[in-house]
Amino acid sequence: MTVSILSSIPQIEKILQQAFISPYIERLSRPIVTDIIRSEVSAFKKYILSDKNNTDVSLDKLYNNIKHACWMMNQQRLQRVVNGTGVIVHTNLGRSPINAELWQSVTDVNTHYNNLEIDLSTGKRGKRKGIIQTLMTHLVKGEDTLVVNNNASSVYLMLHELTQGKEVIVSRGEQIQIGGGFRIPDILALSGAKLVEVGTTNITTNQDYLDAITENTAMVLMIHTSNFKIRGFTESADIKELAKELPPHVILAVDQGSGTTVEDMPDEPTVASYINAGADLVCFSGDKILGGPQAGMITGEQSLIQRLEKNPMMRAFRPSRIVYSLLEELAVRKLNQLDSGAGVAETKSTIAETALKHSAERLAEGLAPFIQVVRSDMTVGGGSLPDQSTPSWSVELSPKDPKLARSPEQLLKLMRSWPLPVIGVIKHDKVQLNLATIDESEMTYLRTQLTEVLQ
Ligand SMILES: *Cc1c(COP(=O)(O)O)cnc(C)c1O
Repeated sequence: MTVSILSSIPQIEKILQQAFISPYIERLSRPIVTDIIRSEVSAFKKYILSDKNNTDVSLDKLYNNIKHACWMMNQQRLQRVVNGTGVIVHTNLGRSPINAELWQSVTDVNTHYNNLEIDLSTGKRGKRKGIIQTLMTHLVKGEDTLVVNNNASSVYLMLHELTQGKEVIVSRGEQIQIGGGFRIPDILALSGAKLVEVGTTNITTNQDYLDAITENTAMVLMIHTSNFKIRGFTESADIKELAKELPPHVILAVDQGSGTTVEDMPDEPTVASYINAGADLVCFSGDKILGGPQAGMITGEQSLIQRLEKNPMMRAFRPSRIVYSLLEELAVRKLNQLDSGAGVAETKSTIAETALKHSAERLAEGLAPFIQVVRSDMTVGGGSLPDQSTPSWSVELSPKDPKLARSPEQLLKLMRSWPLPVIGVIKHDKVQLNLATIDESEMTYLRTQLTEVLQ
């Protein structure tokens, strides 16, 4: 029996020709699928030989194992998902999706040669920046603007170039850790600057900053406390007053974070508002509220920006033509106030609550009691607008099949395994899908999947 099964295992080449394999070759490539088959065949042989009493030693079992291994690998490949979390700029879900029209519009420049580093009027070597500086002067009011790969690089570059061996004053209330291990104190240490903490976690006044200034102070760094907010009795410095009172040798830098420019985002201070208040430099991310590609931007006083540009680390931090082309196009669209320049945060957070309720009702129609329409909240997320949640509507799922209803975690897992994975959240021990972050184009698909699975 064992021997006959062993000898009946087809050659790898033959298994590769099985119909269920071909979509995986397309998704994962032939060499990778071949490796998977080889390792599953070898595991299967071991399994057969390990125990003479194994009951399931059919080829079907082998094929199922192979299919499962391919499927697991495919789940790790970067792919589109449906965001049902109600968090618009979701760090785990790729932050801001890039507007499809914007993306299309830079195809030509990216799929052909372009003038990335040639000055078309002189034919000489040119700068990477294109007209970013001019566009940004209008959009965020800084004299000059520098683009790097992400906002963590912005902070690092500012500190490395402008504060080495000197003191940087930071409020204790802003000693924050932003996402995956990006800690301001660590970055400060790396850049060779000395951190001088002032104030308390909830109160830092202008006088606290001024009292801490010495001859050796290079910078006051303010960080927009994005992903948390200390509630209650808080006071932070009045930046406009502080800018006036700081001695000339101290640079006032603000890490604004979210990159709010002309978007309609109530209560989120714009980059320009910090420049207008007298900040020398403001840095921000490209893929949060701005709605562009992953990037960091530093804007402000030209002489400082020029120093940053000459820093040797700039060679490591400079972004690609893909980023420049998207940012230029995005800025033009924002300045022309086109919808395609709005960014997902603005677009989604301004959808009327009644429209969201209507969408929830469409999803739930005829599927009660397995789907209920419930009130919920949406947030901008991505380290922006911490306190701000806006009313939204969700559908709450209660599957009929007790196997699915065993735990909400199990249902979430099932939805992640759908052909187009769906990411939901657990609220009050039930799985919810928030309509604020679900696209109109995803509604039919969702409705089909939910009908099939829940009833
Ligand atoms: C998001 C954020 C960062 C990190 O930006 P990345 O673009 O992810 O590198 C830094 N500072 C603030 C205030 C932020 O909100």
